[in-house]
Parts: sequence; C-alpha cells; structure tokens
Amino acid sequence: MAAPDKVDKVMEKLVSLAKRRGFVFQSSEIYGGLGPVWDYGPLGVELKKNIKERWWRSMVHEREDIEGLDAAILMDPKVWEASGHVAGFTDPLIDCKQCKHRFRADDPRIKGTPGAPDAQCPVCGNKGTLTVARQFNLMFKTFMGPVEEQAAVIYLRPETAQGIYVNYLNVLQASRQKIPFGVAQIGKAFRNEITPGNFTFRTREFEQMEMQFFVKPGADGEWFEFWKAERMKWVQALGVRPERLRFHQHGPGELAHYAKDAYDIEYEFPFGWNEFEGIHNRTDFDLSRHQAASGKKLEYLEQATNERFIPYVVETSAGADRTTLVVLADAYREEAIEGETRVVLRLLPSLAPLKAAVFPLVNKDGMPELARTIFDDLRKTYNVFYDDGGSIGRRYRRQDEAGTPFGITIDGQSVQDQTVTVRDRDTLLQERIAAAKLVGYLAEKLKG
Ligand SMILES: [Zn+2]
Repeated sequence: MAAPDKVDKVMEKLVSLAKRRGFVFQSSEIYGGLGPVWDYGPLGVELKKNIKERWWRSMVHEREDIEGLDAAILMDPKVWEASGHVAGFTDPLIDCKQCKHRFRADDPRIKGTPGAPDAQCPVCGNKGTLTVARQFNLMFKTFMGPVEEQAAVIYLRPETAQGIYVNYLNVLQASRQKIPFGVAQIGKAFRNEITPGNFTFRTREFEQMEMQFFVKPGADGEWFEFWKAERMKWVQALGVRPERLRFHQHGPGELAHYAKDAYDIEYEFPFGWNEFEGIHNRTDFDLSRHQAASGKKLEYLEQATNERFIPYVVETSAGADRTTLVVLADAYREEAIEGETRVVLRLLPSLAPLKAAVFPLVNKDGMPELARTIFDDLRKTYNVFYDDGGSIGRRYRRQDEAGTPFGITIDGQSVQDQTVTVRDRDTLLQERIAAAKLVGYLAEKLKG
C-alpha cells in the first residue's frame, strides 16, 4: 500500500474527475452533502448499467441453469429473524461521551481499553470518555403503514440473497429447473455502517449483483470451486489489470455466521487491497432456518434417486458500486503526450459510457451538417456524443477523460468523399474510413 498522502492524492484526483465528467456526485450536495452517499451522473449511470448488463448476460442469459429475479427491498421482518440478521448482524460500537463521535471497536486509532479511564478518544483526545463496546445492528429500520408502532417496524434489506431464498421454490416450480440451478438478482441493499468511506467503496446504500446456486449436499465443494474460478475469469474480462486482483480466503474469525467457506476477490485500490466480490458456501443454513421459522417445507425431491434434501447454497455476491469503482480506478491513467499530461480512462470499449464522439472539425463548409447526419445514424445503435465546442485538441481531451474509445472527425475531405477519421483513445492512431462503414467498424471494435 502506498503512503497515505499519495493515497489521498490518487483518490482525490479520481473523485474530482468523477465529478467533473459526470460519473459520480455527492448526494444532496447543495445542502453540504449527505455523508458518504453518492449519486451517479450521466456517464456514471451508463458505466454502472453496462457492468450490470454484462453481469446479467453472463449469469442469466448465457446459462441455462440460472434464472433471474427481482425481489422487493421490503420483506416480512420474520425473514430477518430467521436469517439471523436481527440477532447477529451487528458491529461492536464505541461512543465518545465528550465529542459524540462513534467508532468501531476494532478502530486501530483507539488507545487503551474503551470504558477504562486511560482509554483515549482518537478525535477529541479526551481520556476516559469512551464507552465500553456495545453491539450495534447494521440494519436500517423503518415503518410500514401510517402508525409508527413497534408492530409495524420493518427493515431495509441488508442483502438481496434472502429475497432469493424465500422465492427459491417459486422459481424452481415456475421455471421447471432441476437442482443444481441458480437464481440471480441485481438490487439495492442497505447497511448502517459505523465507518463508511473511501468514496463509493463503503456506503450505507449500495447495489448488489448476487447469484445463489442451489446444489445437492456433498456437491457444494465442487460447485464452490467452479464458481470461484468463473467469477475471477469474469472480473479479469472487464479489463482490470490481473496483478491488481487476488483471492483472499476467510479465516475462522472472518467467516460469516452462515458460511462454511468463503473467498473474497480483492482489488488493489489506491487505499489498499479490499474486497469487491465474495464467493460463499452458505450450506443449508438459510433454507433450513426459513423452513423452521415459516413451517413451509423447503425440501427438494430428487426424481432420479427419490431422495429429499434441503439444498446447499453457493453464493456469488458482487457489489455493483464496488465493481464500478474497481473499473474506474483501474482505468485511470495520467500519460505524457506531446509535451503535456493527459488524463485518460482506459475503459474496456464495451463498458465505456460513450462509444464514440462525433466532431465537425470546424463549424462551417458543410461539416456540421454532415457530422449531424453521421451522429443521428450512429445513435440508433450506440450511445454517442456530439461536440463542436472548442479546439479539436480540447474536444479529444474531454473524451479521453470520459473514457470514450473513439473520436470521429468530419473534416474538409469528408464533405468531398464521405470519409471520416477515427481516432483511437489508447493508441492515438487515426484511420480514415468511409462514413457508411462506421456502424460495422464500431461493432467490430466493441466486441468483448
Ligand atoms: Zn471524543
């Protein structure tokens, strides 16, 4: 991990670019910003959508044995009792009675034993003001219905997985799948983290891309290995530099209450190695608990052997926001060209928010008219951008920062012979091609 001042600089630059180009804005910024909550701007929403669509295609459309689902955020609170979240989804929390700051008990900045007179608050510096650790539930509570009474308390889901478990028999029957099979879902989840931070890495509202794969007990080990390998392949195919990716296996102290085995896929962010996806063997924990709590049989009858069993679950759980941050952070480069530094996002072309930008070289001599025609034709197929403002060099730089892989320039020759130049964001090479061939040209370049 790099030195702290360097870390701040790299993240500062990324946050600044994200705002400048419209990838990510702070929530409620005109009111000073709502803590670590973020909004995706025009380019950010496209990038994140491209990542989610790629995930959906590979997990649902390209697999016969996985079905899609979109379960609601609000669920019967009994779900969270059965799943263990009401009792166990907690972090130990310490308060400073003086400055009112809150800390996780494992905060390395705390000196001494919280609760004891010698313990020192890392923020205000007072001694003896820290409380002993108490368990703080990370679920957001809200109220269902007009009366704010205890009976109506419900939770914002802290994970999308439970929506899949309670629907597993519905999906199985409706789709006529047989075990092994999976259910995939993309959706928002909420956790009242004590110490969020690092831009969009740890936020209280986030989006998950989860797949729960139901298997026969005993086959779980093999499927776990399969999905572990598959997910790493998928992440690498996003164009992320492989030397910045690694697996981290959870030790006995790190395993969640439901897990038999768990691996994180970690990326080397400017602030260090951190996980953005997990592969978990959740055994039959969740389905058994839901069967016991609901009184509904959640067993599966295997026709071939006439055996009944509660399936084991191998889960692949990725953060859509974290994966987007990985892609952004990995794409960010500063390069020296023509005596100056350019900032460029070397995004995989198929993930880039804008696939191409169309530039009339100057705003006269028939160039804008032809450029408009080409632009209108291209945007039937691709998200493209029209820019006639400023020098061509400045227009290129803006699109480099947006990660747009191709710049299409309409010049004097274009008006004569209907050809255009296409500038490649990464190589800076320019080719002249017939305007009529642009759609096919881009299709070829945007594969993969
Ligand atoms: Zn304090």
